[in-house]
Amino acid sequence: MNLTIRKMQKYLKEKYKRTKPEEMKNTQRYFLKLIEEVGELAEVIRKDKRMEGKNIKGTIEEELSDVLYYVLMIANTYDIDLEESFRIKEELNSIRYGHTLKIDDIQDDD
Ligand SMILES: [Mg+2]
Repeated sequence: MNLTIRKMQKYLKEKYKRTKPEEMKNTQRYFLKLIEEVGELAEVIRKDKRMEGKNIKGTIEEELSDVLYYVLMIANTYDIDLEESFRIKEELNSIRYGHTLKIDDIQDDD
């Protein structure tokens, strides 16, 4: 089954729907966690720690997932549709940098 950014955001909203609104809106906390995870990512990149099999602990794969998690959580606190934002931003980047490839030129793998 395809995992999209939209589905990931919906999943996290559903997962934390019982969380009190003031906790869900804790954007600053999520932002600090994001920066913490970026630091962890820097360390595993420096050490070139890659995942072997399903052993994800202490790897680039783990820390990239952690970074993505907090990006999604921050987007959710603002009700931002990241797929839409990414699409709009890429359209601007295409014009700015003269790229001709469009997102919709890419086919899903399955
Ligand atoms: Mg981490």
